[in-house]
Amino acid sequence: MEPLSRFFYRRSEKALSDATLQASISRTTGKFVGARADAVAAFPGFETARDEGSRIKRETLDRLDHHLGRFIDEAERRGAVIHAARDGAEAREIATRIAKEEGVTLAVKSKSMVGEEVDLTGALEAAGVEVVESDLGEFIVQLAGETPSHIIAPAVHKTREQVSKLFVEKLGEPYTDKIPELVAIARRRLREKFLSAGMGVSGANFLCADTGSIALVTNEGNGRMGTTLPRVHLVVAGIEKVIPRLSDLPVFLRLLPRSATGQPISTYVSVLTGVKRPEDPEGPEKLHIILLDNGRSGILKGKYRDILKCIRCGACLNICPVYQSVGGHAYGWTYPGPIGSVLTPLMTGLAEGVPLANASTLCGACADVCPVKIPIPGLLLELRADERDRGLKDPAEVFGMKGYAAVMSRAGILEALERIAGVISSVFLKEGKAPWLPFRFSGWTDRRDFPAPAPQPFRKLWKKQRGIRPWNR
Ligand code: SF4
Repeated sequence: MEPLSRFFYRRSEKALSDATLQASISRTTGKFVGARADAVAAFPGFETARDEGSRIKRETLDRLDHHLGRFIDEAERRGAVIHAARDGAEAREIATRIAKEEGVTLAVKSKSMVGEEVDLTGALEAAGVEVVESDLGEFIVQLAGETPSHIIAPAVHKTREQVSKLFVEKLGEPYTDKIPELVAIARRRLREKFLSAGMGVSGANFLCADTGSIALVTNEGNGRMGTTLPRVHLVVAGIEKVIPRLSDLPVFLRLLPRSATGQPISTYVSVLTGVKRPEDPEGPEKLHIILLDNGRSGILKGKYRDILKCIRCGACLNICPVYQSVGGHAYGWTYPGPIGSVLTPLMTGLAEGVPLANASTLCGACADVCPVKIPIPGLLLELRADERDRGLKDPAEVFGMKGYAAVMSRAGILEALERIAGVISSVFLKEGKAPWLPFRFSGWTDRRDFPAPAPQPFRKLWKKQRGIRPWNR
């Protein structure tokens, strides 16, 4: 997927004027936020699980080479073929070569953000393979010719009415806006594909090093069907997905669904180990696993390595006021929301992704809900500092911030400016509010009033009242 994050502001403007988009996003993410809060309240061990999940991920990253090596050995011992891809181009080349060598003409794919990252579907289709997205949200997005706008709910930007119209137009189905009927249509269309596909394509939620297993956490049966029915199973996973032991998995199975959708456990948890053995009733005869770097080993070496702890739950998107307002497509690349605001500049280049690092109020809600305790606001601040150090900041902003720092560190100047601002703003007061700010600051007041300054500055009040204690009143 070609990154378009540098156009974030323009794309956000468009999204902000789309009331239907915002209604459909908040309908789903609002539900997720409420359900997460209930699920966390009902599970007293959640904070302990967060500490444990964060610790396991940190320790894995500290010895990633070792754990990856173990995973490769164990997976190969059970019949898997491991491929290493340095970047998206290599991953695409490997995947298309596998499809060609295995004689695949039809593939069913389950949801995979790494697949989106490297545009796996596009590459396979260009090589003559029909690729059918089998996750319902991805199926909708594929029919619409769009890209996912959320990590776990790819079609969150669409209303059910829009989906109904899409099914009429693209599938020739009768109009219905009843969700069970829409699901039944997709299920009927997909079932025949599962039965005739030569290859199933999936990502991996976790790669268990000590058994060489791939763990998939899903809410639809598509992942399990797509990875067991076709003759070939192709997995594409980022190298950071490895965890040391299968016995570490339960911690993440407690964290992931609660953080994502508020479910105590996902509908399906599949642990796939090796190829089909003679005594197995089902399973793939061939298992290919592409381990993708695509900049991850560079991130691992630097100050942003914590971002590799991410388990792609989507909780930070659901809680983020910026994501809720502009939706996922505005972010311009595979990963939207707070996680995308850190990952995109790191993976596509600072100049491309840097508007995203500024697309945050730094309210800290993302860090509060992150199940593996990634300090997202701190990483965003680091990215902003990098942006300044590399000369990518707007010079006017740098000048303005220097002026701000100079004023804030000199009490006399600050007081004088407060007085001047009070006098000027009183001229423009309307019903007790200053309705707009001029020039470059107008973004603050485009959609909200700027509160009128207090009749007396805080510092003056403080001086007046200093020495007065509640018990002296
Ligand atoms: S950064 Fe944390 S909250 Fe956001 S998707 Fe990753 S694990 Fe979930």
